[in-house]
Amino acid sequence: MGDRLSIGFDLGGTQVRAALVAGGGVRRRAAVLTDVAGGPNSVVGQFRALAAKICEGIDFDHIGAIGIAAPGPMDTETGVVDHIPTLPGWNEFPLRQRLAEEFQRPTIVENDGIAAAYGEWKHGAGKGLDHLVYVTVSTGIGGGVVVDGRLMHGRRGMAGHVGHFQIAPDGPVCSCGAVGCFEAFAAGTALGKRAHMAATGDPSGYLGSKASSEKIVSRHVVDGARLHDAECLALLREEAEYLGVGFTGLIHLFSPQRLIMGGGVAKAFDLMSDDIHAVIRRNAMAPFKDIPVVVAALGDDCGLVGAAALALAAVEPTDR
Ligand SMILES: [Zn+2]
Repeated sequence: MGDRLSIGFDLGGTQVRAALVAGGGVRRRAAVLTDVAGGPNSVVGQFRALAAKICEGIDFDHIGAIGIAAPGPMDTETGVVDHIPTLPGWNEFPLRQRLAEEFQRPTIVENDGIAAAYGEWKHGAGKGLDHLVYVTVSTGIGGGVVVDGRLMHGRRGMAGHVGHFQIAPDGPVCSCGAVGCFEAFAAGTALGKRAHMAATGDPSGYLGSKASSEKIVSRHVVDGARLHDAECLALLREEAEYLGVGFTGLIHLFSPQRLIMGGGVAKAFDLMSDDIHAVIRRNAMAPFKDIPVVVAALGDDCGLVGAAALALAAVEPTDR
């Protein structure tokens, strides 16, 4: 069954990506900048064009199913978008139905964090496990959870919004409007803001000198840390502390065998791993202190691969 073809789409606020997937591997890929201003009807056209590109020379009858990973919160039981903060104008858009009509293939939609968790579980760093938590740390924080050998969906398919539990009674305002969420402290955006403040406070330092020509973001901290800049190393230690606190909470909640970290900030995982594990050893209850945090194996592909694999699993229940 592993070699059947399916298509995975990843709908993001910046890019729409598509991949032709077989056996958990990406065979072909294509991407385009999301036509945010054009709204959902225009983006459906982008899906169509991307599919044509990656399926060139292939009989479309060989595509078993189509899966779309989209940002949430989204009701994946109905396949109707509630609203997507990064994509205005999508309220109440029947995404699954429209794409099923467009492609005439079995189609599923999945929250991007849950799709990525499934990708890592079936084809990445969580292969063979029964219990795992996947956390993506990039602009925001999202994720998905596998418990007892099952992908957790919750009411309306919205489980796994791991970025929005509060880790402090006050603190920075989160993208969701609340205060003190894990995401508000530990997402790449939050790290970028702290780096910007550090640059302003020390114009002659590594970050300060970069700030004269470009906007300081989390990537600059990682670059500086690799050059052994003390300020950037300190910012990453602070970031690792927040990540460790959030991860400890998730480990207590779900008792995973492994916590998998993906997203842009995971590119600095090697620099933060020791500090993250030190926080878990310090804060977690005794039976949880040894839970390993590992970096995602599929990188940026986990949502694409996960959505494509989930779509096939939905039409081949024995493969689930
Ligand atoms: Zn929040």
